[in-house]
Amino acid sequence: MTKQILLSTPHMGELEQKFVQEAFDTNWIAPVGPHVDAFEREFCDVVGSSHAAALSSGTAALHLALQLIGVSAGDEVFCSTLTFIATASPISYLGAKPVFIDSDRTSWNMNPELLREALDKRAKLGKLPKAVVIVHLYGQSCDIDPILAVCNDYEIPLIEDAAESLGASYKGRSPGSFGKIGIFSFNGNKIITTSGGGMLVSDDQKLVEKARFLATQARDPAPHYQHSEIGYNYRLSNVLAGIGRGQLCVLGDRVEARRRNFDFYKQALGNLPGIEFMPEAAFGKSTRWLSCLTIDPAAFGANREEVRLALAEEKIEARPVWKPLHLQPVFADCECIDGAVAEELFENGLCLPSGSNLTDEDLGRVTSAIAKIHKEHG
Ligand SMILES: *Cc1c(COP(=O)(O)O)cnc(C)c1O
Repeated sequence: MTKQILLSTPHMGELEQKFVQEAFDTNWIAPVGPHVDAFEREFCDVVGSSHAAALSSGTAALHLALQLIGVSAGDEVFCSTLTFIATASPISYLGAKPVFIDSDRTSWNMNPELLREALDKRAKLGKLPKAVVIVHLYGQSCDIDPILAVCNDYEIPLIEDAAESLGASYKGRSPGSFGKIGIFSFNGNKIITTSGGGMLVSDDQKLVEKARFLATQARDPAPHYQHSEIGYNYRLSNVLAGIGRGQLCVLGDRVEARRRNFDFYKQALGNLPGIEFMPEAAFGKSTRWLSCLTIDPAAFGANREEVRLALAEEKIEARPVWKPLHLQPVFADCECIDGAVAEELFENGLCLPSGSNLTDEDLGRVTSAIAKIHKEHG
Protein backbone atom coordinates (compact mmCIF):
# COMPACT_ATOMS: atom_id res chain seq x y z
CA MET A 1 0.00 0.00 0.00
CA THR A 2 1.47 3.34 -1.03
CA LYS A 3 1.05 6.05 1.56
CA GLN A 4 -1.10 9.05 0.63
CA ILE A 5 0.94 12.27 0.59
CA LEU A 6 -1.21 15.22 1.63
CA LEU A 7 -0.75 18.91 0.92
CA SER A 8 -0.11 20.21 4.44
CA THR A 9 -0.82 18.32 7.65
CA PRO A 10 -0.47 19.20 11.35
CA HIS A 11 2.96 18.62 12.87
CA MET A 12 3.05 18.58 16.64
CA GLY A 13 6.17 19.22 18.69
CA GLU A 14 7.06 17.93 22.13
CA LEU A 15 5.46 20.46 24.46
CA GLU A 16 1.88 20.69 23.22
CA GLN A 17 0.61 17.74 25.27
CA LYS A 18 2.30 19.03 28.42
CA PHE A 19 0.51 22.38 28.05
CA VAL A 20 -2.80 20.65 27.33
CA GLN A 21 -2.30 18.40 30.38
CA GLU A 22 -1.69 21.54 32.45
CA ALA A 23 -5.04 22.91 31.29
CA PHE A 24 -6.71 19.66 32.36
CA ASP A 25 -4.86 19.53 35.69
CA THR A 26 -5.96 23.06 36.58
CA ASN A 27 -9.45 22.64 35.03
CA TRP A 28 -8.99 25.65 32.76
CA ILE A 29 -11.18 24.09 30.07
CA ALA A 30 -12.73 27.35 28.91
CA PRO A 31 -12.31 30.15 26.37
CA VAL A 32 -10.30 31.98 29.02
CA GLY A 33 -7.32 31.03 31.18
CA PRO A 34 -3.57 31.26 31.70
CA HIS A 35 -2.61 29.62 28.37
CA VAL A 36 -4.70 32.16 26.46
CA ASP A 37 -2.92 35.05 28.18
CA ALA A 38 0.51 33.45 27.77
CA PHE A 39 -0.12 32.55 24.12
CA GLU A 40 -1.01 36.18 23.37
CA ARG A 41 2.15 37.49 25.09
CA GLU A 42 4.41 34.91 23.45
CA PHE A 43 2.82 35.55 20.06
CA CYS A 44 3.52 39.28 20.41
CA ASP A 45 7.18 38.47 21.09
CA VAL A 46 7.35 36.39 17.91
CA VAL A 47 5.73 38.88 15.53
CA GLY A 48 6.80 42.09 17.23
CA SER A 49 3.34 43.54 17.81
CA SER A 50 2.44 45.16 21.13
CA HIS A 51 -0.95 43.52 21.67
CA ALA A 52 -2.77 40.37 20.58
CA ALA A 53 -6.16 38.72 21.04
CA ALA A 54 -6.41 34.93 20.65
CA LEU A 55 -9.55 34.01 18.72
CA SER A 56 -11.43 30.99 17.43
CA SER A 57 -10.25 31.42 13.82
CA GLY A 58 -8.44 33.66 11.40
CA THR A 59 -11.76 34.42 9.75
CA ALA A 60 -13.17 35.60 13.08
CA ALA A 61 -10.08 37.78 13.51
CA LEU A 62 -10.65 39.41 10.10
CA HIS A 63 -14.32 39.93 10.88
CA LEU A 64 -13.45 41.75 14.11
CA ALA A 65 -10.64 43.69 12.42
CA LEU A 66 -13.00 45.10 9.79
CA GLN A 67 -15.67 45.91 12.35
CA LEU A 68 -13.14 47.61 14.66
CA ILE A 69 -12.07 49.82 11.79
CA GLY A 70 -15.68 50.80 11.29
CA VAL A 71 -16.50 48.96 8.06
CA SER A 72 -20.27 48.73 7.73
CA ALA A 73 -23.06 48.17 5.23
CA GLY A 74 -22.58 49.91 1.91
CA ASP A 75 -18.84 50.55 2.36
CA GLU A 76 -16.23 49.41 -0.12
CA VAL A 77 -13.05 47.60 0.90
CA PHE A 78 -10.09 47.08 -1.44
CA CYS A 79 -8.77 43.53 -1.23
CA SER A 80 -6.24 41.21 -2.91
CA THR A 81 -7.93 39.02 -5.50
CA LEU A 82 -5.48 36.09 -5.45
CA THR A 83 -6.34 34.56 -2.10
CA PHE A 84 -8.55 32.22 -0.13
CA ILE A 85 -12.21 33.24 0.25
CA ALA A 86 -11.78 33.96 3.98
CA THR A 87 -9.80 37.12 3.18
CA ALA A 88 -12.96 38.64 1.72
CA SER A 89 -15.95 36.87 3.24
CA PRO A 90 -15.85 38.98 6.44
CA ILE A 91 -16.24 42.06 4.20
CA SER A 92 -19.54 40.54 3.10
CA TYR A 93 -20.53 39.62 6.67
CA LEU A 94 -20.59 43.35 7.39
CA GLY A 95 -22.66 44.18 4.31
CA ALA A 96 -19.70 45.92 2.68
CA LYS A 97 -18.43 45.22 -0.82
CA PRO A 98 -14.96 44.10 -1.88
CA VAL A 99 -13.13 45.69 -4.80
CA PHE A 100 -10.40 43.32 -5.92
CA ILE A 101 -6.84 44.23 -6.90
CA ASP A 102 -4.52 42.13 -9.03
CA SER A 103 -1.15 40.66 -8.01
CA ASP A 104 2.34 41.49 -9.20
CA ARG A 105 4.64 38.81 -10.58
CA THR A 106 7.48 39.27 -8.10
CA SER A 107 5.52 38.45 -4.96
CA TRP A 108 2.19 37.06 -6.31
CA ASN A 109 0.66 39.56 -3.84
CA MET A 110 -1.18 42.87 -4.30
CA ASN A 111 0.46 45.08 -6.88
CA PRO A 112 1.31 48.34 -5.04
CA GLU A 113 1.29 50.42 -8.25
CA LEU A 114 -2.18 49.24 -9.18
CA LEU A 115 -3.35 50.09 -5.67
CA ARG A 116 -1.92 53.60 -5.91
CA GLU A 117 -3.48 54.23 -9.33
CA ALA A 118 -6.82 52.96 -8.12
CA LEU A 119 -6.78 55.06 -4.96
CA ASP A 120 -5.67 58.19 -6.87
CA LYS A 121 -8.62 57.67 -9.18
CA ARG A 122 -11.04 57.07 -6.32
CA ALA A 123 -9.79 60.14 -4.45
CA LYS A 124 -10.64 62.31 -7.46
CA LEU A 125 -14.14 60.83 -7.48
CA GLY A 126 -14.46 61.30 -3.71
CA LYS A 127 -15.09 57.56 -3.37
CA LEU A 128 -12.27 56.18 -1.25
CA PRO A 129 -12.68 52.71 0.28
CA LYS A 130 -13.10 52.29 4.02
CA ALA A 131 -10.14 49.92 4.35
CA VAL A 132 -7.52 48.00 2.38
CA VAL A 133 -7.01 44.28 3.08
CA ILE A 134 -3.79 42.72 1.81
CA VAL A 135 -2.91 39.04 1.93
CA HIS A 136 0.60 37.64 2.38
CA LEU A 137 0.25 34.57 0.22
CA TYR A 138 1.82 31.13 0.62
CA GLY A 139 4.33 32.36 3.21
CA GLN A 140 5.49 35.42 1.28
CA SER A 141 5.00 39.01 2.37
CA CYS A 142 3.54 41.70 0.13
CA ASP A 143 5.72 44.66 -0.74
CA ILE A 144 4.30 46.44 2.31
CA ASP A 145 6.11 49.82 2.28
CA PRO A 146 4.57 51.30 -0.89
CA ILE A 147 1.16 49.88 0.06
CA LEU A 148 1.34 51.41 3.53
CA ALA A 149 2.59 54.71 2.07
CA VAL A 150 -0.41 55.14 -0.22
CA CYS A 151 -2.82 54.03 2.52
CA ASN A 152 -1.27 56.63 4.83
CA ASP A 153 -1.50 59.32 2.13
CA TYR A 154 -5.24 58.77 1.97
CA GLU A 155 -5.67 57.90 5.67
CA ILE A 156 -7.11 54.49 4.86
CA PRO A 157 -6.51 51.80 7.50
CA LEU A 158 -4.53 48.77 6.31
CA ILE A 159 -5.49 45.28 7.48
CA GLU A 160 -2.98 42.49 6.91
CA ASP A 161 -4.17 38.93 6.36
CA ALA A 162 -1.04 37.08 7.42
CA ALA A 163 -2.87 33.76 7.93
CA GLU A 164 -0.42 31.99 5.62
CA SER A 165 2.71 33.88 6.59
CA LEU A 166 3.53 33.44 10.26
CA GLY A 167 7.32 33.16 10.48
CA ALA A 168 7.98 35.18 7.30
CA SER A 169 9.78 38.51 7.21
CA TYR A 170 9.55 41.80 5.34
CA LYS A 171 12.73 43.91 5.64
CA GLY A 172 13.50 42.08 8.87
CA ARG A 173 10.07 42.38 10.48
CA SER A 174 7.04 40.10 10.58
CA PRO A 175 4.25 40.73 8.10
CA GLY A 176 1.07 41.35 10.08
CA SER A 177 2.82 43.91 12.29
CA PHE A 178 2.79 46.85 9.84
CA GLY A 179 -0.86 47.72 9.30
CA LYS A 180 -3.46 49.00 11.73
CA ILE A 181 -4.43 45.37 12.44
CA GLY A 182 -2.90 42.04 11.43
CA ILE A 183 -4.45 38.61 11.61
CA PHE A 184 -3.07 35.07 11.70
CA SER A 185 -4.61 31.59 11.49
CA PHE A 186 -3.91 28.33 13.31
CA ASN A 187 -6.15 26.19 11.14
CA GLY A 188 -5.02 22.58 10.70
CA ASN A 189 -3.23 23.21 7.40
CA LYS A 190 -1.24 26.28 8.49
CA ILE A 191 2.45 26.38 9.43
CA ILE A 192 1.53 25.94 13.09
CA THR A 193 -1.90 24.86 14.25
CA THR A 194 -4.15 24.70 17.28
CA SER A 195 -6.57 22.54 15.18
CA GLY A 196 -8.51 25.76 14.74
CA GLY A 197 -7.76 29.25 15.96
CA GLY A 198 -6.61 32.72 15.05
CA MET A 199 -4.88 35.81 16.37
CA LEU A 200 -5.54 39.51 15.94
CA VAL A 201 -2.56 41.81 16.55
CA SER A 202 -2.15 45.55 16.73
CA ASP A 203 0.01 48.19 18.37
CA ASP A 204 -3.21 49.93 19.42
CA GLN A 205 -4.07 48.59 22.87
CA LYS A 206 -7.61 49.99 22.81
CA LEU A 207 -8.39 48.19 19.55
CA VAL A 208 -7.20 44.85 20.90
CA GLU A 209 -9.14 45.31 24.14
CA LYS A 210 -12.22 46.08 22.07
CA ALA A 211 -11.56 42.92 20.01
CA ARG A 212 -11.56 40.84 23.22
CA PHE A 213 -14.76 42.57 24.33
CA LEU A 214 -16.54 41.87 21.03
CA ALA A 215 -15.20 38.30 21.02
CA THR A 216 -16.85 37.57 24.39
CA GLN A 217 -20.43 38.62 23.59
CA ALA A 218 -19.78 42.33 24.26
CA ARG A 219 -20.52 42.16 27.98
CA ASP A 220 -20.63 45.54 29.67
CA PRO A 221 -18.82 45.77 33.01
CA ALA A 222 -21.71 44.88 35.33
CA PRO A 223 -22.39 41.98 37.71
CA HIS A 224 -25.52 41.06 35.77
CA TYR A 225 -25.39 40.36 32.04
CA GLN A 226 -25.72 43.69 30.28
CA HIS A 227 -25.11 44.47 26.63
CA SER A 228 -25.06 47.76 24.75
CA GLU A 229 -23.65 46.22 21.57
CA ILE A 230 -23.93 42.96 19.69
CA GLY A 231 -20.84 40.80 20.12
CA TYR A 232 -19.65 37.36 19.10
CA ASN A 233 -18.44 34.13 20.68
CA TYR A 234 -14.97 34.23 19.11
CA ARG A 235 -12.47 33.53 21.93
CA LEU A 236 -9.88 30.75 21.68
CA SER A 237 -10.16 27.89 24.18
CA ASN A 238 -7.50 27.66 26.89
CA VAL A 239 -6.91 24.03 25.85
CA LEU A 240 -6.17 25.05 22.26
CA ALA A 241 -4.02 27.98 23.41
CA GLY A 242 -1.91 25.32 25.15
CA ILE A 243 -1.38 23.60 21.80
CA GLY A 244 -0.52 27.00 20.32
CA ARG A 245 2.14 27.67 22.96
CA GLY A 246 3.80 24.34 22.17
CA GLN A 247 3.63 25.03 18.44
CA LEU A 248 5.16 28.49 18.82
CA CYS A 249 8.26 26.83 20.34
CA VAL A 250 8.89 24.96 17.07
CA LEU A 251 7.90 27.69 14.60
CA GLY A 252 11.51 28.27 13.51
CA ASP A 253 11.99 24.56 12.78
CA ARG A 254 8.74 24.44 10.83
CA VAL A 255 9.82 27.36 8.64
CA GLU A 256 13.17 25.73 7.92
CA ALA A 257 11.51 22.40 7.07
CA ARG A 258 9.10 24.05 4.64
CA ARG A 259 11.89 26.00 2.99
CA ARG A 260 13.81 22.75 2.68
CA ASN A 261 10.87 21.15 0.86
CA PHE A 262 10.92 24.02 -1.60
CA ASP A 263 14.68 23.72 -2.16
CA PHE A 264 14.33 19.97 -2.72
CA TYR A 265 11.63 20.52 -5.36
CA LYS A 266 13.54 23.31 -7.03
CA GLN A 267 16.74 21.30 -7.16
CA ALA A 268 14.97 18.32 -8.74
CA LEU A 269 12.52 20.10 -11.05
CA GLY A 270 13.86 23.60 -11.62
CA ASN A 271 15.50 22.69 -14.90
CA LEU A 272 12.49 21.03 -16.50
CA PRO A 273 11.19 23.10 -19.42
CA GLY A 274 8.06 25.09 -18.61
CA ILE A 275 8.42 24.81 -14.83
CA GLU A 276 8.85 28.02 -12.86
CA PHE A 277 8.86 28.23 -9.10
CA MET A 278 7.15 30.98 -7.11
CA PRO A 279 9.80 33.69 -6.80
CA GLU A 280 11.06 34.87 -3.43
CA ALA A 281 10.90 38.66 -3.40
CA ALA A 282 14.14 40.40 -2.47
CA PHE A 283 12.52 42.39 0.34
CA GLY A 284 11.97 39.45 2.65
CA LYS A 285 12.09 35.81 3.57
CA SER A 286 9.26 33.50 2.63
CA THR A 287 8.34 30.56 4.84
CA ARG A 288 7.34 28.60 1.72
CA TRP A 289 4.18 27.63 3.61
CA LEU A 290 3.22 25.98 0.34
CA SER A 291 5.70 25.18 -2.41
CA CYS A 292 4.14 26.58 -5.57
CA LEU A 293 5.15 26.48 -9.21
CA THR A 294 3.69 27.36 -12.57
CA ILE A 295 3.57 25.06 -15.57
CA ASP A 296 3.73 26.34 -19.12
CA PRO A 297 1.87 23.52 -20.90
CA ALA A 298 3.47 24.14 -24.31
CA ALA A 299 6.99 23.81 -22.93
CA PHE A 300 6.31 21.12 -20.32
CA GLY A 301 4.05 18.89 -22.37
CA ALA A 302 1.15 18.74 -19.91
CA ASN A 303 -0.96 21.41 -18.26
CA ARG A 304 -1.46 22.08 -14.58
CA GLU A 305 -4.62 20.01 -14.37
CA GLU A 306 -3.07 17.03 -16.16
CA VAL A 307 -0.16 17.17 -13.73
CA ARG A 308 -2.48 17.43 -10.73
CA LEU A 309 -4.51 14.42 -11.87
CA ALA A 310 -1.40 12.37 -12.63
CA LEU A 311 -0.12 13.12 -9.11
CA ALA A 312 -3.49 12.14 -7.64
CA GLU A 313 -3.14 8.78 -9.43
CA GLU A 314 0.07 8.30 -7.46
CA LYS A 315 -1.69 9.21 -4.21
CA ILE A 316 -0.09 12.64 -4.10
CA GLU A 317 -2.30 15.59 -3.25
CA ALA A 318 -1.56 18.80 -5.14
CA ARG A 319 -3.90 21.77 -5.50
CA PRO A 320 -4.34 24.57 -8.01
CA VAL A 321 -3.22 28.00 -6.84
CA TRP A 322 -6.16 29.92 -5.28
CA LYS A 323 -8.87 30.74 -7.77
CA PRO A 324 -8.94 34.56 -7.84
CA LEU A 325 -11.86 35.98 -5.89
CA HIS A 326 -13.03 38.10 -8.81
CA LEU A 327 -13.70 34.83 -10.67
CA GLN A 328 -15.76 33.38 -7.83
CA PRO A 329 -19.48 33.16 -8.61
CA VAL A 330 -20.33 34.72 -5.25
CA PHE A 331 -18.37 37.88 -6.18
CA ALA A 332 -19.53 38.02 -9.80
CA ASP A 333 -20.87 41.56 -9.35
CA CYS A 334 -17.70 42.94 -7.74
CA GLU A 335 -15.22 45.20 -9.50
CA CYS A 336 -11.68 43.97 -10.09
CA ILE A 337 -8.77 46.22 -10.94
CA ASP A 338 -6.89 44.35 -13.65
CA GLY A 339 -6.75 40.64 -12.72
CA ALA A 340 -4.79 39.13 -15.60
CA VAL A 341 -1.77 38.17 -13.46
CA ALA A 342 -3.90 36.39 -10.86
CA GLU A 343 -5.84 34.62 -13.62
CA GLU A 344 -2.66 33.35 -15.22
CA LEU A 345 -1.25 32.19 -11.87
CA PHE A 346 -4.49 30.30 -11.26
CA GLU A 347 -4.51 28.78 -14.71
CA ASN A 348 -0.95 27.47 -14.52
CA GLY A 349 -0.16 27.41 -10.80
CA LEU A 350 0.10 24.28 -8.68
CA CYS A 351 0.78 23.85 -4.95
CA LEU A 352 2.82 20.76 -4.11
CA PRO A 353 2.77 18.77 -0.85
CA SER A 354 4.45 21.09 1.63
CA GLY A 355 4.07 19.79 5.18
CA SER A 356 6.99 20.23 7.57
CA ASN A 357 6.69 16.50 8.35
CA LEU A 358 7.37 15.21 4.82
CA THR A 359 10.29 12.82 4.44
CA ASP A 360 12.90 12.79 1.68
CA GLU A 361 11.17 9.68 0.40
CA ASP A 362 7.86 11.57 0.17
CA LEU A 363 9.50 14.49 -1.62
CA GLY A 364 11.29 12.10 -3.95
CA ARG A 365 8.00 10.46 -4.89
CA VAL A 366 6.60 13.88 -5.84
CA THR A 367 9.58 14.90 -7.95
CA SER A 368 9.83 11.51 -9.68
CA ALA A 369 6.14 11.61 -10.52
CA ILE A 370 6.45 15.07 -12.08
CA ALA A 371 9.61 14.14 -13.99
CA LYS A 372 7.79 11.08 -15.30
CA ILE A 373 4.87 13.15 -16.56
CA HIS A 374 7.29 15.37 -18.45
CA LYS A 375 9.10 12.38 -19.91
CA GLU A 376 5.86 10.84 -21.16
CA HIS A 377 4.36 14.04 -22.59
CA GLY A 378 7.26 16.45 -23.14
C1 LIG B 1 -6.57 30.04 6.35
C2 LIG B 1 -6.77 31.40 5.84
C3 LIG B 1 -7.69 32.28 6.43
C4 LIG B 1 -8.69 31.86 7.44
O1 LIG B 1 -8.22 31.36 8.61
P1 LIG B 1 -9.14 30.33 9.44
O2 LIG B 1 -8.38 30.21 10.73
O3 LIG B 1 -9.19 29.06 8.68
O4 LIG B 1 -10.47 30.96 9.63
C5 LIG B 1 -7.75 33.58 5.96
N1 LIG B 1 -6.98 33.98 4.96
C6 LIG B 1 -6.11 33.17 4.36
C7 LIG B 1 -5.26 33.72 3.27
C8 LIG B 1 -5.97 31.85 4.76
O5 LIG B 1 -5.13 31.05 4.11
